[in-house]
Amino acid sequence: MKRSTDSRKKKRKKNIKTAFGILCVAVICLAAISFWQIGGLAPSGRPRVCIDAGHGGSDVGAEYDGRYEKDDNLRLALAIGEILEENGIDVIYTRKKDVFVELEERAEFANEKRATYFVSLHRNSAEADVSGVEIWVNSKALYNEVQLAQNILDEINEIGFGDSRGVKRGYQGNPLSDYLVNSATDMPSCLVEMGFITTERDNELFDENLEKYAAAVAEGVMKGIEAESAALTTEE
Ligand SMILES: [Zn+2]
Repeated sequence: MKRSTDSRKKKRKKNIKTAFGILCVAVICLAAISFWQIGGLAPSGRPRVCIDAGHGGSDVGAEYDGRYEKDDNLRLALAIGEILEENGIDVIYTRKKDVFVELEERAEFANEKRATYFVSLHRNSAEADVSGVEIWVNSKALYNEVQLAQNILDEINEIGFGDSRGVKRGYQGNPLSDYLVNSATDMPSCLVEMGFITTERDNELFDENLEKYAAAVAEGVMKGIEAESAALTTEE
């Protein structure tokens, strides 16, 4: 009996020692992971682009004849992201599925992830028979922000998409206000209105040339990145 109690005690001590050992290893591992995570937040040197497919889920965006803006935005977003990824750009998405995401969340996500650029994708709507692409930037946008939008528009214009409606500052109908995704993001950003969903011809162009337009937007973004890194190299 005694021997058995002794061996049980020894066993318990051994168990406590093992548990303590495991705890120590866990604490060391956690410390290492925390350190690595902090280190991992430092800029990797690789540009990171946040692609924002406008609307989603219960927010369908503009609607025309059973066609929802949220779906067009997502198709274009995924196509652009794929091309950027193929070109070595780190791409993050505010949504990759048909889900609702608050505007503030979209901007916060890009800020937390320290994106280099933020590109929001939308489709326009109007009662009149109008056509073409326009790109919105912050009312106080600086040169590189305007240039990002202009580069994207120039590339789209090379393929052609109705009448080019230009790069615009502020908010539709109020140049002093801003789209939240442009005002709440810390990095250069723009909001692309990829033609009018309410115009038959624009929808045909959108569907026929989706891959080409995606490549054009990606090219415009990459031109911006190249120009910024060239400017940094010159400054050094
Ligand atoms: Zn929209």
